[in-house]
Amino acid sequence: MSETSKTGEVSRRGLLKTAASAAGAAAILGVAVQPAAAKMSQKAVAYQDTPLGDKTCDTCSNWRPPNGCATVEGEIAPKGYCRIFVLKR
Ligand code: SF4
Repeated sequence: MSETSKTGEVSRRGLLKTAASAAGAAAILGVAVQPAAAKMSQKAVAYQDTPLGDKTCDTCSNWRPPNGCATVEGEIAPKGYCRIFVLKR
């Protein structure tokens, strides 16, 4: 797709055309590089490092062992809990 000179070298113009085409195609297709989704703060979800009844982080579908959560930032206790708890199936 890039232009090459008679010596086989890729021209600067060819590289620029290729880059412009790729950017244009991405714009037309609505493709954009999205940053990773930000996690919510522990405060926003009322996280606590103690369970609520039998609801614990390590039984939640968002749990990521050993001390993480897919949707809440920071270190998460296995026996913690927050208000967006979703029971793992
Ligand atoms: S209850 Fe679930 S969503 Fe909330 S902090 Fe624990 S693992 Fe994450």
